[in-house]
Amino acid sequence: MTYGMIATWEMAYDGLQKGLAHLKNSGTAADALEKAICAVEDEPTFQSVGYGGLPNAQGVVEMDSAYMDGNTFQLGAVAGITDVKNPIKVARKLSHEKFNSFLVGAGATAYAKEVGFTMTEMLTEKAAQAYQERLKAMAESNLSPYDGHDTVGMVSLDDTGSMVAGTSTSGLFMKRPGRVGDSPLAGSGLYVDAEVGGACATGLGEDLMKGCLSYEIVRLMKAGLTPQAACDEAVYSFDAELTKRYGKAGAFSLIAMNNTGDWGVATNVEFTFVVGNVNQEVTLYTARPDNQGGTIIQAQ
Ligand code: ASP
Repeated sequence: MTYGMIATWEMAYDGLQKGLAHLKNSGTAADALEKAICAVEDEPTFQSVGYGGLPNAQGVVEMDSAYMDGNTFQLGAVAGITDVKNPIKVARKLSHEKFNSFLVGAGATAYAKEVGFTMTEMLTEKAAQAYQERLKAMAESNLSPYDGHDTVGMVSLDDTGSMVAGTSTSGLFMKRPGRVGDSPLAGSGLYVDAEVGGACATGLGEDLMKGCLSYEIVRLMKAGLTPQAACDEAVYSFDAELTKRYGKAGAFSLIAMNNTGDWGVATNVEFTFVVGNVNQEVTLYTARPDNQGGTIIQAQ
């Protein structure tokens, strides 16, 4: 019997504990992932996911989310959705649709309302204040408006061997209304094949989607690489290639878990992530590149 979960960023710690407890009691990978991502979406102190997420340039919290089933390849996604408490629930529901499984903007929000998902204003006072301060700082200096973004991305494996992956984010702070990142895109923000494993991304979506890195990691695991070797190979070779051809690569970090619960991570910046599995309680790690094609990983 094996089970496990891996997620991007320290913010996923409490959620992962809930998810892992569910897996320990023979819960499904799907329910564990939904519980864990909802816990992150519901926490207002996390400023890049769900309630409390930072808004776009017009002060509106626009969110992207996706859900993928690694057994069937069913995939659901929303982009630029507003006023919905838990975008991951909408994405999961959409994954059951044969048609119309990826909805954007007003259509996504209307669908969530119609189906009966909880609707709420997602802009907190704290996020509104951060928005006002950023407007002021941008007027006074050359500060990049886009600093302030992260995605919760998660891969979940249960003791029947089912695997799912999911993402949720409010995307780049001060993004142009309508801007969509990698997070809801299969292959870029997430990918999972239960016969192999899954991967998720966080970082600059505009660059992540140039490399389809989540798919690339799963492909490399399928070819026989360990999750760590697959992450190192995909992330550092793409970082080098993008730097060579495009002149620079934005910050990005990828996590992966295979269908036996082994995991890996690679990143071109300092990055935190959390993992738990049948042998290991939920543990927070930091990762950074060793600049020789590998990753330095330390438990916190
Ligand atoms: N990947 C997200 C986006 O580009 C942001 C992040 O994960 O930092 O929307």
